[in-house]
Amino acid sequence: MNGDDRFKILVTEDAIQERVRELGVEITRDYRGRDLVLVGVLKGSCLFMADLCRHVDLPLTMEFLGLSSYGDRTESSGVVQITQDLTHPVEDMDVLLVEDIVDTGLTLDFLMDHFRVRKPRSVGICTLLHKPSNTVKDVQLDYVGFTIENRFVVGYGLDYEQRFRNLPYIGYVED
Ligand code: 5GP
Repeated sequence: MNGDDRFKILVTEDAIQERVRELGVEITRDYRGRDLVLVGVLKGSCLFMADLCRHVDLPLTMEFLGLSSYGDRTESSGVVQITQDLTHPVEDMDVLLVEDIVDTGLTLDFLMDHFRVRKPRSVGICTLLHKPSNTVKDVQLDYVGFTIENRFVVGYGLDYEQRFRNLPYIGYVED
């Protein structure tokens, strides 16, 4: 359809949608009465962010952070550059960072430092995927969609050399 049959399915479209709905319900419960701002980390979280926010039944605001890594890598270096910053201050707000995947944790460690100086009331993390076997920096993850093995995954926002973000499922290339 919109992709390539080289990928094996790791998480189906139905399983993603069901889990995203559950996360939205949890976030709604936890953030009721607070000043929630969802911060999507581009580009990988774009699909997750779009689906998740529709299951959070709160008057939230949305911001996006553009990050770029150097080159089309398949391994995390933790060396990231902010290509698009927030457009509104988050001081005294409850920030929830929405990530596609946490691998080494280096990107989130960098982002947490980036946020502290903006004096939000709180900073939480919601990631669709977590690969715990590669952890270098142990960052506290408040919401995790799926914990997965150490595979390079694509689809549902995640790219392979910038392509295949539009796959509705999470796939991987078989060794
Ligand atoms: P970390 O800094 O936690 O090692 O890596 C986080 C970033 O690395 C993610 O936001 C994502 O851009 C990229 N990344 C890590 N693992 C994968 C993967 O399996 N597939 C894809 N497409 N990107 C990944």
